[in-house]
Amino acid sequence: MSSKSVFELILSGEIESEIIYEDDDIFAINDINPVAKVHILVIPKKKIETINDLKDADVNLAGKMIMVAKELAYETGIDLTGYRLLFNTNDDAMQTVFHIHLHLIGGEKLKNI
Ligand code: AMP
Repeated sequence: MSSKSVFELILSGEIESEIIYEDDDIFAINDINPVAKVHILVIPKKKIETINDLKDADVNLAGKMIMVAKELAYETGIDLTGYRLLFNTNDDAMQTVFHIHLHLIGGEKLKNI
């Protein structure tokens, strides 16, 4: 079994971070190095290393991550001004934490990608 991801360490309390949303399957934290005024990470409690590792059985979990991100966009007041949802996968996308997470980014005008 691979070592714990930083997100598992946050969930277990071994690394301090404010958990701003939590349910049975998912939690969310503010990104430690935000690229915009709002930068939240929506994370499944179950460690899945990359999007490539998603299984058919994870379809509800993956959908729920988007629903949680949508709700957090509303709660942070950026739902109407706009936001970006993003998964980085592997080296070319510069994924650094190998435990999937959905970036919710907004609160200001974002650069085009
Ligand atoms: P990625 O590059 O898509 O793998 O994104 C990983 C994200 O996790 C980066 O935006 C980091 O800033 C963020 N991150 C790493 N460690 C922490 C931490 N302890 N608390 C909050 N965010 C973190």
